[in-house]
Amino acid sequence: MNQIHHYLNGSLVEGRSERFAPVYNPATGEQSAQVALATVDETREAVRIADEAFASWSKITPLKRARILFKFKELVEANADEIARLISSEHGKVFSDAKGELTRGLEVVEFACGIPHLQKGEHSLNVGTGVDSYSLMQPLGVCAGISPFNFPAMVPMWMFPIALACGNTFVMKPSEKDPSTPMRLAELLKEAGLPDGVFNVINGDKESVDVLLTDERVQAVSFVGSTPIAEYIYATASAHGKRVQALGGAKNHMVVMPDADLDQAVGALMGAAYGSAGERCMAISVAVPVGKETAERLREKLVAELAKLRVGPGIVDGPDNDMGPLVTREHLEKVKGYIATGVEEGAELVVDGREAVVEGAGHGYFVGGSLFDHVKPGMRIHSEEIFGPVLAIARADSYDDAVKMINDHEYGNGTAIFTRDGDAARQFCEQIQVGMVGVNVPIPVPMAFHSFGGWKRSLFGPLHMHGPDGVRFNTRMKTITQRWPSGIRAETNHFTMPTH
Ligand code: NAD
Repeated sequence: MNQIHHYLNGSLVEGRSERFAPVYNPATGEQSAQVALATVDETREAVRIADEAFASWSKITPLKRARILFKFKELVEANADEIARLISSEHGKVFSDAKGELTRGLEVVEFACGIPHLQKGEHSLNVGTGVDSYSLMQPLGVCAGISPFNFPAMVPMWMFPIALACGNTFVMKPSEKDPSTPMRLAELLKEAGLPDGVFNVINGDKESVDVLLTDERVQAVSFVGSTPIAEYIYATASAHGKRVQALGGAKNHMVVMPDADLDQAVGALMGAAYGSAGERCMAISVAVPVGKETAERLREKLVAELAKLRVGPGIVDGPDNDMGPLVTREHLEKVKGYIATGVEEGAELVVDGREAVVEGAGHGYFVGGSLFDHVKPGMRIHSEEIFGPVLAIARADSYDDAVKMINDHEYGNGTAIFTRDGDAARQFCEQIQVGMVGVNVPIPVPMAFHSFGGWKRSLFGPLHMHGPDGVRFNTRMKTITQRWPSGIRAETNHFTMPTH
């Protein structure tokens, strides 16, 4: 059995806990590895290593740190196919999508390469007569990252490139469901010239996470995962004096106005709802057509497209499938359970993914794309995050009803409006209580040089990830106000007895 351990101080280190979690290949249902789950002491050791490395890493010039990241970017690009296969083998997503997430992660590395500019701080000359003021954006120390299963490359890369660029050291705790990719990234960071101990990977579960949330040497915690855990992370780490950004779950709605280009909207919905088997925090899981006619036409087109959805393994000879399996058998059962719940709640199950015949499925965790109609607020399939390939049509009588439905929802990660009307779009952008908004763009994930984050119960903490907020999160500001009394320049005659 392949064993996955830890990456500490520049080397692979065997776990000592004798506790392991299984890692599966979701396309076959076979266990491919087991991952060591770290003890409290092993996690403390990772923090100690990062803490020791901070003294020298934080003194390396920003330009040199950027050059290491630049080399890292080149190495990831050179190994992109291999990493994408690794992602697919543990997560299940199709190869092209795995490469896509790697590219989005690399864009954060590219942004972080600009750190000499980003970390310059501010300067004011003459805030008072002869008094200047300037700010230093100094690194924090040890930063920790805790990531979810659904983006084993991109989400860690939202976190560590900027933290390292700013001069921090890092302890990464990946999802135990697909831990191999961050381990591979650690090797490439070393190959790029990152000194040992600056980036460490500790594999584990709640036991090691709790150390990262409470150890006084950890200064900042970045978390991405489900809302209940995000809330726990935020509360616990904040109570221990750390700065925290904890991103949680989502239920993203896409409003389709009567004047929208329906073919464009349906094409966008198919990718946004079913891509990566719906296991994306920015997936669209609720389509909100405005008006009966829009709803009928949208439904008809979606049903036709669903019949063409290609479901199958993530790695195939020939063209990629549209969508792979779910991550684990447990998650597959959960998603199927939600489909049953929707039927019990009285929604109309228009397409039942549980009946899909998937070629070459074997014991893999496959379910086809599902479509519900007449979903209403108050139903669990509307209020809860399913995190699977299940799209709900929740009809709205008017634009105002659509906005209310979204604003009343507890999550506020992403949303979109499809329309040809600039006024409606503009109004939507201003009114909507959601952190990331698309106008005729179904998955409005901000680019790396902007910041990523939701509102309401999709994010705990004031700062979003990467972009300018990422730099703020990973540095603390020191503001210096200085005045120089007249000195050597004024002292022209050193030999005369001073008389006042
Ligand atoms: P999860 O919350 O189960 O796990 C996330 C991380 O927390 C993992 O590393 C896990 O080991 C750790 N963890 C789990 N239980 C814990 C506990 N009791 N105490 C401490 N740590 C614990 O999430 P997941 O199932 O891996 O990922 C899917 C979720 O992540 C979805 O809800 C999805 O919306 C969310 N997500 C959000 C974003 C975003 O940007 N908002 C992005 C990606 C994923």
